[in-house]
Amino acid sequence: MKPASKPQFASVEQPFGCDPPRPHCPLCGKAVLRVDDDGFAHTDPCPHLAFLFVGEVGEFEYRSPAFEKRAKGRRLYDLDLVKLRKLLERIGYGNQLLALEITHGGMACGPVWYTDVYGFDYGTVGDEQNSEAERVPAATDKGAGR
Ligand SMILES: [Zn+2]
Repeated sequence: MKPASKPQFASVEQPFGCDPPRPHCPLCGKAVLRVDDDGFAHTDPCPHLAFLFVGEVGEFEYRSPAFEKRAKGRRLYDLDLVKLRKLLERIGYGNQLLALEITHGGMACGPVWYTDVYGFDYGTVGDEQNSEAERVPAATDKGAGR
């Protein structure tokens, strides 16, 4: 079996009209979104959340410090889901990254669909205690995606 070196995407769609998704980290079980009393959702990241990408605005709602470091100098706005995938590969995320792509819809002025992407970095496992010493990925995958 060929090892996967690209970020792994899981794309799911909620039934129309359901409440927006409230994902929990697959690594530690923490809810990474918090909804305040006014109904607004805020990112409440755990150490494994690399980013939260909001497809509606084409921007990141949250980026982890490790993500910031990787993405330095890259354009991080005006993205779509295709560009997001490319960006993640370019900044060196491999198959240690699980990108959970959730599409959800509801009524606004008409039916609207949104897609949010939650990136969980399995490469952070074990680093929680010594987050100062950030892992630098080995460059063994270089050129593998061409
Ligand atoms: Zn976590």
